[in-house]
Amino acid sequence: MTFTNVVQSSHRLIATRPAQCCTNCSPDCAEPMPILRSHLLGWRITCPLCGDQLREPDGHEAPSPFHQYRGAALRVETLLDDEAERGIQTWTSPAEIAQLLLMRRIPRPIPSQHELWRFRVLGAIVPDLDDVVATDHESLPTPASPILPLHLRPALLAGVTIVERAGPEMLRMLGGHMMGGNRTRFSDSAENMIARARRSRTSSQMQLIGESDPRDSHN
Ligand SMILES: [Zn+2]
Repeated sequence: MTFTNVVQSSHRLIATRPAQCCTNCSPDCAEPMPILRSHLLGWRITCPLCGDQLREPDGHEAPSPFHQYRGAALRVETLLDDEAERGIQTWTSPAEIAQLLLMRRIPRPIPSQHELWRFRVLGAIVPDLDDVVATDHESLPTPASPILPLHLRPALLAGVTIVERAGPEMLRMLGGHMMGGNRTRFSDSAENMIARARRSRTSSQMQLIGESDPRDSHN
């Protein structure tokens, strides 16, 4: 199976072993079987082949505490597909937003030292996340490997939708939830994304201006 056509920004969202399974396309998920490409795409919550809800790698259902975000999550699933498979981005890279949202944040009031592990930027825009993570003792993955367990994935996808829709100012504002070196790293990445978006907008405007109007030749 090759992922050489997948754009660089999406590489981290591709799992090295099955992260999910579709019981419609692979009825015996629990059995050893050929790995399908769809089992490794860490941004999917539905099967790209048949559209069914994906299940855990062993075929068990993955009921999500974030079911209410399903609509928003499905929208970003498509955006992440477009980016990974076709190199089409919106004003920025949805895959890079996903990575930034998994950076650690410091909530106010500042919690005790032993609780700091569970707060991510994502929790600032998907408020139920902090509590779910605390209750389940779920350890969220890091930006280096941003593939969430299937039942938590709708929260990350919804977070990407919110930032993607709101635009650069929202990205900047999220930096305020961090401190120290982490804040600097977040701001540097965010400003980089915003600058790239501006450059690509300018270059497409220049292209439009540069293209001669066919009516000109008749004047
Ligand atoms: Zn399927």
